[in-house]
Amino acid sequence: MAIKVKNPIVEMDGDEMARIIWHMIKDKLLSPFLDIAVRYFDLGIKHRDETEDKVTIDAAEAIKETGVGVKCATITPNAARVKEYNLKQQWKSPNGTIRSLLDGTVFRKPIILQNIPPAVRAWRKPIVIGRHAYGDIYKCSEMVIDAPGRAEIVFSPSDGGEKKVLKIHDFKSSGVVMGMHNSEASIRSFAKACINYALGEKIDLWFGTKDTISKIYHGFFRDIFAEEVGKAGEKLDEAGIKYRCLLIDDAVAQVLKSEGGMLWACMNYDGDVMSDMVATGFGSLGLMSSVLVSPDGKYEFEAAHGTIVRHYYEHLKGNPTSTNSIASIFAWTGAIAKRGEMDNTPDVVNFARTLEKAVIETAESGILTKDLMLIAEPKVSRYAHTEEFIDAVAERLKEMI
Ligand code: NAP
Ligand code: MG
Repeated sequence: MAIKVKNPIVEMDGDEMARIIWHMIKDKLLSPFLDIAVRYFDLGIKHRDETEDKVTIDAAEAIKETGVGVKCATITPNAARVKEYNLKQQWKSPNGTIRSLLDGTVFRKPIILQNIPPAVRAWRKPIVIGRHAYGDIYKCSEMVIDAPGRAEIVFSPSDGGEKKVLKIHDFKSSGVVMGMHNSEASIRSFAKACINYALGEKIDLWFGTKDTISKIYHGFFRDIFAEEVGKAGEKLDEAGIKYRCLLIDDAVAQVLKSEGGMLWACMNYDGDVMSDMVATGFGSLGLMSSVLVSPDGKYEFEAAHGTIVRHYYEHLKGNPTSTNSIASIFAWTGAIAKRGEMDNTPDVVNFARTLEKAVIETAESGILTKDLMLIAEPKVSRYAHTEEFIDAVAERLKEMI
């Protein structure tokens, strides 16, 4: 008999190869075992285009209402994609839109398999990246300068007070400028979210900035972090959690020498870049899970990877693929477990944990997709195709339930 999930989960469908594995996961690993009411939103590029991207906003609103969402990877269109899919315009990144609406923090945690040694020998435990998901270059205004002239930053107070003007640069010839911002409230909730995550997982908290160069902008982040850590001081001490504030370049060096096991809080851009480095370091993007947490406790789970285009084109040609579905499965188990936790339904949480176990045992038994096969120790003689891996997990899951 299927396990009943009490309240709905917001499901956001996506694009290309990620969408193909998404449906395999639902059909083979979820539907046979779970009675789950999803609120379905098709964030596939065609439907976003048809709805003028309203579907993305609707999905974010639905997460606010129900508390838990799970998202498939989606195309963020560039000029080439606009042509490829004949789009009305270059729609914004759905992840960016959802992050802004939830004012959330993204935590990325690698899934560790015993037979996949990390690229960095010292790493033993997951390095979790906490990415501040608001502002900076992701909400910037930028301009190409095509004539000599002065670029300035101007702040005009709403109460009609005196304007503040700061020179950026006197251009002698063409160039480029950018203005970006962040808000104290968002930085504060980011710091709080990181502290809460570190407390929840009982791991140290690191934060890196470039405050030697950007004394005001980056310094602002550093000071707010220090304040929030100060407020949580007692709780952090009790849990034995250490806070380290580092220069971002020092943080990068220290992380590579460490055994892992910390939450590395990153400013938006650093988090974007470093999460891909850490993901690759732990084996494959296919092993990186991701969760967006809002300050008021709403959760959106996803795999960190994109739509895996190259595999999709092979799939379209009718060729077999070997795409890793682990992070997408963990997106679902994260959402299902969180739903069960919120609904107080332990059997739902238990199903999610069992499915995770089935995935890990399948992979550790040597059934691996190509991305992992290439780096596995002990070596395996052949790789599993996309569907073959999911089928093997389904078999194991049936035995475990
Ligand atoms: P990607 O889809 O993550 O793929 C990059 C490469 O990483 C793949 O070509 C593949 O390498 C490998 N890879 C990633 N996930 C894998 C998996 N599950 N199994 C096996 N190999 C995997 O990134 P991208 O090519 O930069 O972006 C493609 C599209 O995804 C873009 O349109 C982008 O906008 C979108 N995107 C969406 C999200 C999101 O929705 N969260 C995130 C990132 C990118 P090989 O080809 O060498 O096998
Ligand atoms: Mg990135």
